[in-house]
Parts: sequence; C-alpha cells; structure tokens
Amino acid sequence: PVVVELKGVRKSFNVGLPNETEVLHGIDLTLRRGEFCAVMGPSGSGKSTLLNIVGLLDRPTQGLLKVCGEETTALADHALTRLRGHSIGFVFQFHNLLGAFTALENVLMPLLGDAGFPNAAMAERAAELLDSVGLSPWRNQPAGLLSGGQQQRVALARALAMNPALLLADEPTGNLDTQSADAVFDLLRRVNREQGTSVLFVTHNPELALRCDKTIEVVDGRVVAQAGG
Ligand code: ADP
Ligand code: ADP
Repeated sequence: PVVVELKGVRKSFNVGLPNETEVLHGIDLTLRRGEFCAVMGPSGSGKSTLLNIVGLLDRPTQGLLKVCGEETTALADHALTRLRGHSIGFVFQFHNLLGAFTALENVLMPLLGDAGFPNAAMAERAAELLDSVGLSPWRNQPAGLLSGGQQQRVALARALAMNPALLLADEPTGNLDTQSADAVFDLLRRVNREQGTSVLFVTHNPELALRCDKTIEVVDGRVVAQAGG
C-alpha cells in the first residue's frame, strides 16, 4: 500500500504579496509501506518545505497529497492535526526536546494525549521505547544533559511513541559525529525493517543515502533525479 502520494504539489510563500515566491514547482512522489527514501539536494532547494507538507504542518498551494489513504487537501485543520498525531512521527536536526525534563518524560509526552498524568501503560511504553534506542540507563537524566547522539535517540523514541506509519526525518544526523550519526541511522533502519515504518530521510551524506531503498534529489523545488525504488 501507498503511505504517501503527491501529485503536482506546488508551494508558494507570501501568496498575494509582492514578494510571493513559488518554492515547490510540481512535485510527484510515492512512498510505499516499508519504503525508506533518502531526500538529497542543495540547501534552499525545498527539502524542508516538502517535509513540512508531507507532515501536514503546512498545506500545498496546489496539487494533491494523500497520507495513509486520506486525500488531505480538503481536510479541515483539526482533521489534519488528528491524522498527523496518529500517523506521523518527526525527527529534526535540532531535536526540540524539553531539556529540563527527563528522557523518559520527553518520550511520555506524545502518549499523554489529553490525560494530565501518565498511567502505568504509558510509562511502560515509554520505558520500552527508551530501551529500544539503548537509553534505559539514562531514563531519569534531564534530556538537556545528554550528548547530541543520545538526545537524537530520545527524539527518535518520542517520534515512535504513537507507532506512526510514517517517519519524517529532516537531517536527523546532520549535527552528529560519524559514529553517532551511524547509530541513529541504524536505529531508523531497524525501525523501518521491524515495524514496516515508511521513512523520508533528508540527508547530505551520500553514504547514508546509498543505504536507503531509494533516493530522490530535489533541486530548485523540483525532483530532478530518482534512484532505486
Ligand atoms: P532546504 O530544506 O532544501 O534547505 P527549504 O525548504 O528550507 O530548503 O527552503 C526552500 C526555499 O523556500 C528557500 O529559498 C527558503 O528561503 C524558502 N522558504 C522556506 N520557508 C519559507 C517561508 N516560511 N517563507 C518564505 N520563504 C520560505
Ligand atoms: P533548513 O535549511 O533546515 O531547511 P532553514 O534554516 O532554511 O532550514 O529554515 C528554518 C525555518 O525558517 C523553517 O521553518 C522555514 O520555513 C523558515 N524559513 C526559511 N526561509 C525563510 C524565509 N525566506 N522567510 C521566512 N521563513 C523562512
């Protein structure tokens, strides 16, 4: 099954203003269940804009976007938020953890939903997720005191809390030394293989891109090359 499908997606910023600019010029892209796709291309080419659109954080100006079988362009904001929460996990280059909260608390947050306090099942799930990224010994450390690689693994555990069908990773290894980057990539790959999670992985690292199922290259708001898949 197809997890993400874009047809003719265009994105303009500052629509109707003198500085209106089109940043994505008609993107077609299909990501199937269990597919791990690298997204490469120069800085400013539109990769983050593309991920924000696929992640339902921003809307296309034109074109069609299906996520997990739902045609999203006609959905209201609350329906997008709901679909995002159930289907999509995010990992960013700068992981956006709450530094004063413990590793475990950071992973618990998406599980809380509307509940004010975690129940035993939530706490157990968060502990399992931290264990799966090798961070059990650090569960009660404030996230801000962990190393960059450890923080990125907490961010990954948090992104997986709702068991999303789709993981969007915007340069999650960009800021890490080679060894930590490899460890984070290996975790992404393992989640992809074990859970069948589809992954869009923005990277500037050609060696990591070669280890993905396919690669698309975005240049000036267009997909100029596809390999694999
Ligand atoms: P990349 O992720 O490949 O570095 P981005 O998607 O961040 O590229 O940016 C693509 C282009 O869109 C850049 O020229 C950037 O300045 C522009 N852009 C991104 N976000 C906005 C915004 N909110 N308003 C106006 N221009 C934007
Ligand atoms: P990246 O290089 O990782 O794509 P950027 O530093 O380009 O990230 O963008 C960071 C944030 O700033 C994004 O949320 C993007 O939408 C916003 N942004 C980028 N370019 C512009 C711009 N020209 N005007 C307004 N916002 C922008």
